[in-house]
Amino acid sequence: MSKRSIQDLDLDGRRVLVRVDFNVPLLDGEIVDDTRIRATLPTLRLLLKRGASLVVASHLGRPKGRVVSKLSLEPVAERLSHLLSQAVVLAPDSIGPATDQAIASAGPGGITLLENLRFHEGEESNDPSFAHALGSLANVYVNDAFGAAHRAHASTTGVVRFVPNSGTGLLMASELKHLGALLDSPERPFVALLGGAKVSEKVEVIANLLDKVDSLLIGGAMAYTFLKARGLEVGRSLVESSLLETAKQLERTAAKQNVRLMLPCDHIVANSLSADSKHKELKIGDPAIGKKLGVDIGLTTMKLFAQPLETARTVVWNGPMGVFEIDAFGAGTVAMANAVAKCQGRTVVGGGDSVAAVKKVGVSEQITHISTGGGASLEFLAGNALPGVSVLPDA
Ligand code: AMP
Repeated sequence: MSKRSIQDLDLDGRRVLVRVDFNVPLLDGEIVDDTRIRATLPTLRLLLKRGASLVVASHLGRPKGRVVSKLSLEPVAERLSHLLSQAVVLAPDSIGPATDQAIASAGPGGITLLENLRFHEGEESNDPSFAHALGSLANVYVNDAFGAAHRAHASTTGVVRFVPNSGTGLLMASELKHLGALLDSPERPFVALLGGAKVSEKVEVIANLLDKVDSLLIGGAMAYTFLKARGLEVGRSLVESSLLETAKQLERTAAKQNVRLMLPCDHIVANSLSADSKHKELKIGDPAIGKKLGVDIGLTTMKLFAQPLETARTVVWNGPMGVFEIDAFGAGTVAMANAVAKCQGRTVVGGGDSVAAVKKVGVSEQITHISTGGGASLEFLAGNALPGVSVLPDA
């Protein structure tokens, strides 16, 4: 069921509370990557064009209910103002009289950015009185924070019943459309490529995807739990011992569902996870791994995985193939970014590292949809309802 969107809302002369995800990476008070701010611009511009005054709200980092000055949204307000070529008033708080004053000073058609929502304990605890205070700031609520939609917080769920009308922003609608298409009506062959550190964080995703995909390719540290479960020698590679039985069960399910579950057949092994560590390529299972650990997929695996990706009609990719932060262990992830980019079907990439890889390789334009929400996209792919979406009215 699709959700009511800003296209369906009466916005002229309204004050709109827009929940966005401005949780940007900061280094010494400077924004390192403003992708998340840019991603909301179409929604903010549309709202302004349609005559709304904006009260924009976001969290930043984990201040845990206390005011932490280095997690102020001040640099975000500056960047947003620059990107929109319009003044942005930063409110000193997210609720209360000083916030009301800031909103009044921004005037009709103006933009106020509320200070970090998580400076209030009530945000994460979804406290009704905090949600009520937020809701009383506006006549319309728009949620464009896909990256926070898997959290039932005051600004993502609680607030909805305190605002007369609400709907999704353009970014949220686009995320739901592209991720929804993967689960609802994927064109075949449908291939999922999963990597990253932990099987435990992706068990539900794997289980749900096994019901839908034709091939499931697993790389990264995650692969070692499956390889070990197959009885292969993995040295000191990252293995989640408590999930060996789960891995075997998932393999059995894949076989039963006729899903081709592919694991690496060769890998790069190193003495340690450091850039200057000696490394070499070995076949998976080669006892020469000794006390070394696997840090990337090998050349043959890159070719093996690239084949189904390039001929697929639908691809979803989440998680790097190795310790890609270290260049020497990043070749597998780079190769997969290129393989996904070559695919002519619908391609969806989610998760911070895979998105970073796609950008680094310079193939973002060739990807159908790059998801802005790591955790939220995993919840979605696991088939779980996102509280921040469920709470919004249907179209
Ligand atoms: P995730 O957040 O689960 O997607 O995991 C991303 C992290 O997995 C990155 O920081 C990678 O360095 C790490 N990673 C990927 N492959 C390996 C590996 N073979 N050994 C250790 N860490 C890995």
